[in-house]
Amino acid sequence: MQTFFVRTKFGFRTDVLLRTVYSAIENGVLVVGPSFVAKSLNISKSTAQKMLVELSELGYGVYVPKKGLILNDAGRREAVKAVRNHRLIECMLEDIGVEKVCSEAEKIEMVAGEELMKALEVKYGNRKRCPCGKRIPEVVP
Ligand SMILES: [Zn+2]
Repeated sequence: MQTFFVRTKFGFRTDVLLRTVYSAIENGVLVVGPSFVAKSLNISKSTAQKMLVELSELGYGVYVPKKGLILNDAGRREAVKAVRNHRLIECMLEDIGVEKVCSEAEKIEMVAGEELMKALEVKYGNRKRCPCGKRIPEVVP
C-alpha cells in the first residue's frame, strides 16, 4: 500500500490528516470524530467526516458511523511518519531563522515530496527533539 503523499478527494494530504487524527489519540482519544478534525484543520464537519471515511477506505482504520475513525496499525505507522516529517521540517525552518516553525511547517508538509524528506532525514535524522522540544518519533518499518 503506497498511499503516503496521496491526497483525499478534497485535496488534503492523507499523511497530514493522519497526523491530525493521531494528535487526538496521543491525548487519550480512542475514536476520533469529525468535530475534532474539523476544528484542527479549520474545515467543515461534513468534509472532515467524508475524509475520515476515506482514510478507512484506504486501509488506515475503521470508521464507526456517528462516532469516528479508529486507526489500525497501518494508520498509526503512517501517522507517526507524518509526525516525524512535520518535526524534521520544523528543524529546517529553525535553521533558516523562521520563528513560527509549527504553523509554517503545517503549510510546507502539505506539499513536501520524497526528495525533500530524504534530504531532511540526512540533515536532521539524528535529532531527538524538534525546535519546540517535542520528541521526533522513530518510524518502525
Ligand atoms: Zn515542534
